[in-house]
Formats: sequence, structure tokens, C-alpha cells
Amino acid sequence: MEGADAETQREREREQQQQFSYQVFPERFSEGKPKRSFLHTSFCTHNQKCRLMLLKATELSPFVKLLLDAMKRSGCTVYRERHFSCEDCNGNVSGGFDAATSQIVLCQNNIHNQAHMNRVVTHELIHAFDHCRAHVDWFANVKHLACSEVRAANLSGDCSLPNEMVRFNFGLKQHHQTCVRDRALRSILAVRKVSKEDAQKAVDEVFESCFNDHEPFGRIPHNKSDAKRAHRDFQNRDRYYSNV
Ligand SMILES: [Zn+2]
Repeated sequence: MEGADAETQREREREQQQQFSYQVFPERFSEGKPKRSFLHTSFCTHNQKCRLMLLKATELSPFVKLLLDAMKRSGCTVYRERHFSCEDCNGNVSGGFDAATSQIVLCQNNIHNQAHMNRVVTHELIHAFDHCRAHVDWFANVKHLACSEVRAANLSGDCSLPNEMVRFNFGLKQHHQTCVRDRALRSILAVRKVSKEDAQKAVDEVFESCFNDHEPFGRIPHNKSDAKRAHRDFQNRDRYYSNV
């Protein structure tokens, strides 16, 4: 009797789960059987929240939408179920790009709101974009890593001040550059066993050229409307190229 009850309970949970997934990931059921890993992990609240925020980021953030378009055009189409993984992470890390599996890890225990999720997804997609277009030597060449970290900090909004503050901050441009240097340095030290001096040297060496490389945004998107404009320009660029 107890066994049967437990079975019924499990079945009910499965049913609720499928209803939930149907709302959140309607396309999953057109592929047939839902993947085991999804049902397996999604009972965890952190994981569900993380997946929902990821879905919103891919559908609503102009930064993310532009990068997904750019990846597709570069021949590296990103699939949400294949290329993203919501996981618990150590320390206060928010995310990472795993070049070996081409997966973006989102730290579900450290990302607590949508704005943060949008920034992390954008930041990691910039690494994925660099990986796709440039065959980055992430491990042997610290300058390659430094360049991508400078670009990710510069273009992801990591260093953008809230709009209200901008009006009062006259040293805005200086703040942005200092922030980008500082964040790139910290990111390198978080993922590589190099001395602070070597990391600093790598950032200094690549800064000028990598700070000025705004691809695929074509500008530094300081806020959502910048990113929207960049996305529109990107799509027009696409149209132009396809007419040539
Ligand atoms: Zn990074």
C-alpha cells in the first residue's frame, strides 16, 4: 500500500513537472521524449529559476539576442538545451565558458535576479563568440584570455553605471576603462594560476586593441537602448550582406 501511494505521488509529481515544462519549454515536447537530465534536475528550485531566467534572457535581452544572431551567422548556432548548463558553483563565481564542451555554465546558486542573469549570459556569450570566430588558445596563451576578458567586461554591461548615475558622473569614460581593466584582471586570476603581475602585463599588452574591438556590437552598448540600436544595425548589416 505504501509503495503504491509513493508511486502515485511520484506520478503526480511527474505530471506537474511536465505541465511546468510544457509552459516553460513548449518546444521540448515537439522533439518527443523530454531529456532525462531535465526531469532529473528540475525539481530543484534554483535550477528551475535559473532556466526560466535564461529563457527570458534569450527572448528579451537585446544584448543576448544580438550575440545569438552573431553566433548563428558565424556558423556557431547556440541551442539553449545544448550549450547552457545551470549548475551550483563554488565561491561567488557567476558563470563560465567551458571551451572543451562549448558550454556556458550559469551558477544557479549565485545568480539571483534577471538583470544579473542577462549580464552573465552576455559576458559568457562574448567568450563563446570569440571562441567561435578566432580559435582562442584559452589555456596556453594568457593574452588570448586577457583579450576576451577585456571585451566581455567592456561590452556586456558589467561596467555600465545605472542611467541615473550617468548624469552626475563626469568621469564616466575614465570609470568605464578602469572598471574594464580591473574586471578583466580579476577574471583572469579567477580562472588561471598566474601571478598578478603576469595577468596585469597581459591585460596591458592587449588592452588598446581589444578595448577597441566592439564586434559584434559595433559600439560599446552602455545600456539597453544602445544594445537595441546595435541589434537593429546588426540585422541591417545582415540584410546588406545578403544582397551583395
Ligand atoms: Zn569572462
